[in-house]
Amino acid sequence: MLYSPRKFPRPDSDTSVAKSEDLKQAGLKTTLPRLKVLSIMESSQVRHLSAEDVYKVLLEEDESIGLATVYRVLTQFEDAGLVIRHNFEGERAVFELNDEDHHDHMVCVECGSVTEFIDPRIEELQEKVARSHRFNIQDHALTLYGVCTHCQ
Ligand SMILES: [Zn+2]
Ligand SMILES: [Zn+2]
Repeated sequence: MLYSPRKFPRPDSDTSVAKSEDLKQAGLKTTLPRLKVLSIMESSQVRHLSAEDVYKVLLEEDESIGLATVYRVLTQFEDAGLVIRHNFEGERAVFELNDEDHHDHMVCVECGSVTEFIDPRIEELQEKVARSHRFNIQDHALTLYGVCTHCQ
């Protein structure tokens, strides 16, 4: 939910293969589960994934890595600033790579799909509202809940 300033750049060479370098850069030792989870996050078409989603891909790939391990690895990634955790209402926690600039989210209450958006007018208006309250914004998370085009 929080935008971490420790932005982690997506490796621009081969995005489908996570490298030990990526983990080292985040201050994490290389282990097979970490490499596997990172490479799934990096190659996934869906950007926002729950631990269960990652676990399902591991099962398809015949990897014997348990759901508890996936969850632990994702939490370690979060602590290392590699991923951002979102606790969207009514949803399991989802994780996304911390490799993009700030953006906000729209969550479908029917299918759980997550759409990203950014609107400079909203960003500006938030600054303005905060200023009028003499409030210093350090961070913000804006999530819209509704029904996506597919579910309408
Ligand atoms: Zn939907
Ligand atoms: Zn996002």
